[in-house]
Amino acid sequence: MTKMKAVVKTKPEPGAEIIDVDIPTPGPGEVLVKVLATSICGTDLHIYQWNEWAQQRIKNLPQVMGHELCGEIIELGSNVKHLKKGDIISAETHIACGHCFLCQTGNAHICINGRIFGVDINGVFAEYAVVPASNVWILDKKIPKDYASVMEPLGNAVHTVLAGEITGNTVLITGCGPIGLMSISVSRLCGATKIIATEINDYRIKLAKELGADVVLNPKKDDVVKKIKEKTDDLGVDVVLEMSGNPTAILDAFKALRPGGRYSILGIPDKPIEIDVSRDIIFKYITVQGINGRLMFSTWHKTARFLSSGRLDLEPIITHRFRLEEFAKGMELMESGNCGKILLYP
Ligand code: NAD
Ligand code: ZN
Repeated sequence: MTKMKAVVKTKPEPGAEIIDVDIPTPGPGEVLVKVLATSICGTDLHIYQWNEWAQQRIKNLPQVMGHELCGEIIELGSNVKHLKKGDIISAETHIACGHCFLCQTGNAHICINGRIFGVDINGVFAEYAVVPASNVWILDKKIPKDYASVMEPLGNAVHTVLAGEITGNTVLITGCGPIGLMSISVSRLCGATKIIATEINDYRIKLAKELGADVVLNPKKDDVVKKIKEKTDDLGVDVVLEMSGNPTAILDAFKALRPGGRYSILGIPDKPIEIDVSRDIIFKYITVQGINGRLMFSTWHKTARFLSSGRLDLEPIITHRFRLEEFAKGMELMESGNCGKILLYP
């Protein structure tokens, strides 16, 4: 067998096709993986829609889409020592060079030469995929395979929640997409004492409540800043975890954060945003922190421990499961926002 089914971005226009392509061969330091489950991320949707960002960022068409996966190792390239056939794995999707200044100083997640599956090179919406051995995360048998596929975005949530103090703190999570929803669960697990979430989509508002957010506000209906002040004795929240990328949400959160608080931003706005640096940052004495990817691999260790402890239930967040052939249905649902995480099975 030399061919496999894959979801391929074939042309520089909206859409993608499921076609037969060659099964890739693992080179030195790489492994071939049979994909057991994969999941759709917002980035995949942007590539599918062919938005402005995708038009500028994606250079190598045709390209297999997707980056989140659970797989089984079925072949080892040369020089792979610490892995074996049959290992069930997830994978870090940022491929670091290992020799630049950032890699050498403990910041491989922002490697200068970094490449990303399904963005810079062929991805994992396929029956098989090649993964560098150094990016493989061997799965603890206690962790369900479906969860392995979503460990990568869960790692974004874990990275953001744990990027500063959280225990005993009042937290605002802006945006309850899959990563915002995961952040609600992780914040609860880590001892946040009040969790306020904001979201505009009713389906996701319901999910945020189910996951245990204490207050869920809808900026389309509520005066978010006023309500947050009311819920925090007029002080504002201790921590903001920005998970929407929405400019209004980003700016309102500066107002809802207490003086001296932590503002961690994961959400990606698609345009520059104007802020009052003196008023909102300097005199307020807050810490603003960009969050990118996952720490390699301390975030993965924590994420895996949360999952194997059984204390983090992702079941409510995984709302849909489709066959890989039905990827277009998944993309439509993602576009509507009426979903949590969507899994695809090759
Ligand atoms: P998502 O797009 O599914 O979620 C964003 C949510 O914000 C949506 O549910 C949307 O309805 C909601 N929203 C929109 N406007 C809002 C407003 N004014 N107030 C409150 N909520 C609002 O994305 P996701 O997959 O959950 O990811 C979260 C964000 O993190 C996205 O912006 C994504 O691009 C970004 N991201 C960043 C990294 C990184 O490494 N920095 C990695 C992955 C994702
Ligand atoms: Zn590097």
